[in-house]
Amino acid sequence: MSSHLEHEHDVLVIGAGGAGLRAAIEASARGADVGLVCKSLLGKAHTVMAEGGVAAALANVDDRDSWRVHFADTMRGGQYVNNWRMAELHAKEAPERVRELEAWGALFDRTDDGRILQRNFGGHRYPRLAHVGDRTGLEMIRVLQDRGVHQGIAVYMETNVTTLLMDGGRVAGAFAYDRERGRFRVFRAKAVVLATGGIGRAYKITSNSWEYTGDGHALAYHAGADLIDMEFVQFHPTGMVWPPSVRGILVTEGVRGEGGVLKNREGRRFMFDDIPENYRAQTADSEEEGWRYTQGDKSARRPPELLTRDHVARCIVREVREGRGSPHGGVFLDISWIKARVSDAEDRIKKKLPSMYHQFKQLADIDITREPMEIGPTTHYIMGGIRVDGDTQMSTVPGLFACGECAAGLHGANRLGGNSLSDLLVFGQRAGEHAAAFAASSGATAVDAGQVDEAARRALAPFDRPGSGEGAYQVQHALQETMQDLAGIVRNEGDLRAALGRVEELRERAETVGVAGNREYNPGWHTALDLRNLLTVSEAVIRSALDRKESRGGHFREDFPDKDPAAGKYNIATRRAADGSMELERVPVRELPDELQAVIEEMG
Ligand SMILES: Cc1cc2nc3c(=O)[nH]c(=O)nc-3n(C[C@H](O)[C@H](O)[C@H](O)COP(=O)(O)OP(=O)(O)OC[C@H]3O[C@@H](n4cnc5c(N)ncnc54)[C@H](O)[C@@H]3O)c2cc1C
Repeated sequence: MSSHLEHEHDVLVIGAGGAGLRAAIEASARGADVGLVCKSLLGKAHTVMAEGGVAAALANVDDRDSWRVHFADTMRGGQYVNNWRMAELHAKEAPERVRELEAWGALFDRTDDGRILQRNFGGHRYPRLAHVGDRTGLEMIRVLQDRGVHQGIAVYMETNVTTLLMDGGRVAGAFAYDRERGRFRVFRAKAVVLATGGIGRAYKITSNSWEYTGDGHALAYHAGADLIDMEFVQFHPTGMVWPPSVRGILVTEGVRGEGGVLKNREGRRFMFDDIPENYRAQTADSEEEGWRYTQGDKSARRPPELLTRDHVARCIVREVREGRGSPHGGVFLDISWIKARVSDAEDRIKKKLPSMYHQFKQLADIDITREPMEIGPTTHYIMGGIRVDGDTQMSTVPGLFACGECAAGLHGANRLGGNSLSDLLVFGQRAGEHAAAFAASSGATAVDAGQVDEAARRALAPFDRPGSGEGAYQVQHALQETMQDLAGIVRNEGDLRAALGRVEELRERAETVGVAGNREYNPGWHTALDLRNLLTVSEAVIRSALDRKESRGGHFREDFPDKDPAAGKYNIATRRAADGSMELERVPVRELPDELQAVIEEMG
């Protein structure tokens, strides 16, 4: 067997963002011995970058809110291909999870009477996002980390899992290497929870950081689990577009929640030009009404800037394509205009949006209290992921659980802002609970030496190749360009077929990439190993996008620009066929029970 360090836990959690931490805390609280592995330092995860807030129907700012409205909003936003059971559990349990976080020490912004303050966000009917300025994720991670560490969870930082180990059909652990020294580690476990976040690095313009190469998606896929909804990638409407070095960095939706407006180069609020029929009744008729909504007037309806992200992103693309964009290929987002309405505008913007103020000041030399920002769409989130049971979060592989962004179902075709932080709390807790129960009720697993040797051989292969002269970064960049240009925000059959061809070509090129140096501190090697995951998730996105011949949520086909009611009746699952190829299956959307159907109808 290869030389490696060995560790054994009842439950192994892979990923230490909000989902992984919440799962680890729960499994540990239920008596399991828990190991928690993360690719970078503890605390460095997407969750820490989250700005706008966590969605939960606490009804602190508007007492008309309830789990029923949150459920209906989530289903409408997801265009009804969501896993309704997850949407129901999420809406019902998010308030409890947020209050629990507060009890553990999270310091949310407060209402005047001392309750958790909530803000407006796209697609949410009422102010629903509990927040800490625009640094909500930082506070969540601080609290979860503190709780987890004090609960005695064993943490393995800068440890990169490359392969899941199997015992027959059941998961038995994981093979990993540490990024500093390149030493191999084998983790034995009775249950494994994947909480590895997203795939944003498959695209060129993205708000995601370097870790998000779709590892959990690919690990599950190669272990035989189903992925689902992979065509649904979210392009956030507001990323920075200038200067080029910061292109893609997120500009929180909180800016629009606080009254920020979108304008084209003619100064026109173009979002009023195209309001989807199913949101018309909930959307303001005039700029005046939209402003009143952002200031808490309960009789007003939300401005069109707070329509769902998929729609806002497409409207921006339209403005740019039709020549009404900003100088650097975006449009303008303006919060400074509120000085015409309120006397303390500058202080208010700095207080409510401190990170945005500093981000633009430092990175673009723009003072957002005085000038508009230039923004455009950026790859942000994947609604698709590992197919799980709504109640337990177990994947289609026994003992393998998934939660947070790498799992799928809750968001359907489009995620509402704020629903990810609540997703990872609700389903992190559930995954931890059920993984601990699975571990307690199942016998020990055996790790197969042959699988460990094969994983080690594959990890070392880039050192053994003479190399084609091409490095891992070149292949990664070529893939990012391909996905951006051919499988991005506007898709069509020809582009997607071309993208598939290029991915196949890039897979061959990835197999020839050689790496110089040794296993210590070698980022070229790490990137070479990430390529397999990036290629797997990219292929799944493209194949699913080809199969869905309609436009819905994050998936827009210019050759099929409308929704097809028949296509709204299935999700697309992706799995590895016996011959190693990727196969797709259209899985019928489960019919809504009458009582939930009634909730949706009641909400209009
Ligand atoms: C800039 C930004 C702002 C956002 N703002 C909001 C917001 O306001 N509200 C909201 O609801 N959502 C927001 N989101 C989305 C949300 O933050 C993420 O979807 C969510 O945090 C994902 O949490 P997670 O726990 O699933 O994964 P992450 O927090 O992404 O954590 C993933 C973990 O997995 C580890 N990992 C990955 N691969 C491996 C591997 N191979 N081996 C070992 N470990 C691995 C990583 O190191 C990390 O620890 C935002 C996202 C971004 C990028």
